[in-house]
Amino acid sequence: MFQTTIAGSLPKPDWLAEPEKLWPQWKQAGASLQQAKADATLLWIKAQEDAGLDIIGDGEQARQHFVHGFLEQVEGIDFENKVKMGIRNNRYDAMVPQVVAKLSLKGRVHAMEAQLLRAHTNKKTKFTLPGPMTIVDTVADRFYGEGQEGRIAMAMAFAELLNQEALALQADGIDIIQFDEPAFNVYMEDAADWGVKALERAAQGLTCTTAVHICYGYGIQANVDWKNTLGHEWRQYEKVFPALAKSSIDQVSLECFHSHVPMDLIALLKGKDVMVGVIDVASDVIETPEEVADTIGKALQFVSKEHLFPCTNCGLAPMSRDVAWKKLQALAKGAELARQRI
Ligand SMILES: [Zn+2]
Repeated sequence: MFQTTIAGSLPKPDWLAEPEKLWPQWKQAGASLQQAKADATLLWIKAQEDAGLDIIGDGEQARQHFVHGFLEQVEGIDFENKVKMGIRNNRYDAMVPQVVAKLSLKGRVHAMEAQLLRAHTNKKTKFTLPGPMTIVDTVADRFYGEGQEGRIAMAMAFAELLNQEALALQADGIDIIQFDEPAFNVYMEDAADWGVKALERAAQGLTCTTAVHICYGYGIQANVDWKNTLGHEWRQYEKVFPALAKSSIDQVSLECFHSHVPMDLIALLKGKDVMVGVIDVASDVIETPEEVADTIGKALQFVSKEHLFPCTNCGLAPMSRDVAWKKLQALAKGAELARQRI
């Protein structure tokens, strides 16, 4: 009961990449970089276990960013000539690569980290991939064409590639494959209309547990500013959850603690496992076990205890290592307290 897990990313040590940045530069190159990525992955596997988490991830140590880490292994993308693009409906600008030809995978994307993760924990493992709709919102297109049709065609093309990698991750022994779709909270109608279909294409044929993470973004200033415009009730999930409830995806990860998401929206996910965000990633204040257990208690009004998985609101990548480590401990301790209360 109350198996704990994180949304996905964890801070990179400062010998691997620039600390506390969302798009950090690597500090190593070539074979040294590969070794440093593996070392950092091992470090965080151990830290998650020591904190007492139940489902362990790779902490996304081997990718610069959760979307571009995947794109680097995709043929048909020009990484040399990045362009500035407003992403998440122009919430902030990013330097993004361009799709210039038909897409295909160059080979495995995450074999090293996934196999390392499987070899170094006996606990359940989770691996994250970007969702098709969020990828489409984080690249510039010079090939699939303008408008909605082009976007959908490109999303389906990415979904096929994600599916190839997801099936390979499953063969590596990963227990849960999660697709990250923050774009679902930005383009709600599109998400319900074709985003969920693209997601199901990405998960096609998987027999392991499948999940989707939908959040209000990392704790960076542009996201904090955006959240301040959303009013006192955030009802974005209301449009997407009914489509997800009908989908083949098993688990949904959502933002909860310190958000203005009405808790009763969880009821729209009837039948699904719900990863409830009990840890705020936009604040360095460490949650107390009581706060975590209280959030779990409130969510229990709308999801049964068998289906509730305490989780972080989003990834912890831009935070300091020390704060992230303490938040992992708070997550585990809070879930333990919630078990005792029940
Ligand atoms: Zn997130």
